[in-house]
Amino acid sequence: MTQLASYRLDGRPGVALVDDGTLRPLAGVASMLDVLDWSPNQLIAAASPEVVKMTDVELAAPVPAPARNIYCIGWNYLAHFEEGRHSRPELELPKRPTIFSKAPGSVAGPYDDIPAHPHLTGQLDWEVEVAIVIGTGGTDIAQDTALRHVFGYTVANDVTARNLQAEYGGQWLKGKSLDRTCPMGPVLVTADEVGDPQSLDISCRVNGRTVQSGNTRQMIFPIARVIAELSTGLTLLPGDIVLTGTPEGVGHQRRPPEYLHPGDVLESEVSRIGTLRNAIV
Ligand code: MN
Repeated sequence: MTQLASYRLDGRPGVALVDDGTLRPLAGVASMLDVLDWSPNQLIAAASPEVVKMTDVELAAPVPAPARNIYCIGWNYLAHFEEGRHSRPELELPKRPTIFSKAPGSVAGPYDDIPAHPHLTGQLDWEVEVAIVIGTGGTDIAQDTALRHVFGYTVANDVTARNLQAEYGGQWLKGKSLDRTCPMGPVLVTADEVGDPQSLDISCRVNGRTVQSGNTRQMIFPIARVIAELSTGLTLLPGDIVLTGTPEGVGHQRRPPEYLHPGDVLESEVSRIGTLRNAIV
């Protein structure tokens, strides 16, 4: 068992095993949330022998409508922390991860258009990230067993309206939560298949030009530590999503700054998972 995808076929939602570029729908399953406690063998047993072509469906985010906000980690790659340091020179390297969230309505599919929200911002920025989907919930999860709580890994882009981060009290929720500004997918790769999540190449391209390129080994707080810190006194539930931070190269810290505009194509790639491709409209 390797990869799962959420999709819509003739308007009906489904979940499928991804097998050699085709889909094998899981019988009777309409939501990824229904299979988070299934074993690999259960998933394989439920997969239809009849395949559906990728081109016949609309791929959706692995969890298209999360029940709660998406948890996010800020400044989790050292070079990204340093590139923004001039705006907050007082900050020491944090002892604990920076945690914020995005509203559920920010989720978009892997190939969906991203609205530019021009009445609110001209400073839409990119942040490619590895996202995890929690399979087994828990409170006060220990770091050394934390990865057992991960059902799977996917690609996300924490698209951010930089001006709104400043204009709404300096907190990040509004600038991070505009509708359909968090593409995710194209597949959810199960934890057993990914193996070590701290050895994944991660990159972002705008109109074919590479703007971010890193590896998850550069995280300040590895994913197991993120889960441990997040879950202290805050119960994680099956289906919760955590974005684990972005490497350096965001547009806002470039000189001069660069932002996304209608017509741009944003590509977000993580090795062993896949690539998102979203047009700004
Ligand atoms: Mn981010």
